[in-house]
Amino acid sequence: MVTENYDHVKAQVEEACKKAGRNPDDVVLIAVSKTKPVSDIEELYAHGVRDFGENKVQELVEKYEVLPKDIRWHMIGHLQRNKVKYIIDKVALIHSVDSLRLAETIEEEAVKKQVEADILVEVNVAQEESKFGLQTGETLGLVEEIAKLPHVHIRGLMTIAPFVENEEENRIYFQKLRQLAVDIRAKNIDNVTMDFLSMGMTGDYRTAIEEGADYVRVGTGIFGARDYNR
Ligand SMILES: *Cc1c(COP(=O)(O)O)cnc(C)c1O
Repeated sequence: MVTENYDHVKAQVEEACKKAGRNPDDVVLIAVSKTKPVSDIEELYAHGVRDFGENKVQELVEKYEVLPKDIRWHMIGHLQRNKVKYIIDKVALIHSVDSLRLAETIEEEAVKKQVEADILVEVNVAQEESKFGLQTGETLGLVEEIAKLPHVHIRGLMTIAPFVENEEENRIYFQKLRQLAVDIRAKNIDNVTMDFLSMGMTGDYRTAIEEGADYVRVGTGIFGARDYNR
């Protein structure tokens, strides 16, 4: 079941790329496996999928331990500083950095484990009160500070758009994130490459791709609805 769902989403990703005149190889479809069993991940792994997203440190670590080591794990959830040490050498990309203090902890732990940390800065472009992430206006200042940390490399921006029935409503937020990345890139800050936008989920990944998403994070569309009461 998850394999068919994945293929369906992948086909939609390709169609959105075609519509936008983009190369489908430039968009990474992250299978967001949070709350879902290892067996689902194994099924997709056997199908060739390597990019998986988790939002909880403990769950990511548990899955990491038992699954093949060539999986690229994406940390997409709010990250507490005291938990950075558990994932720093296990994740390909941390999508959810929203403070200098968190980035400083990532720097310290990266040095200890002798790794380089690729991160995205999370921006709350829609200004939703319930969401983590920086305000648009404070993003450049934070990027300039994080850029001074030698083992932390800012690769782009991430946003979580509001839950909407009609994904067209989120187009404006995807445009805003892209414009912010363009503005920051124009500053040519050392140790900052604004190559990647992580935006778009099950309800709005097609629109996000049309607006330039490089990573789309799809959970429900691949694995089905989540049951948090298990
Ligand atoms: C859960 C989650 C997703 C996936 O959401 P779906 O709507 O199930 O596709 C994407 N991004 C983040 C940050 C998430 O926490």
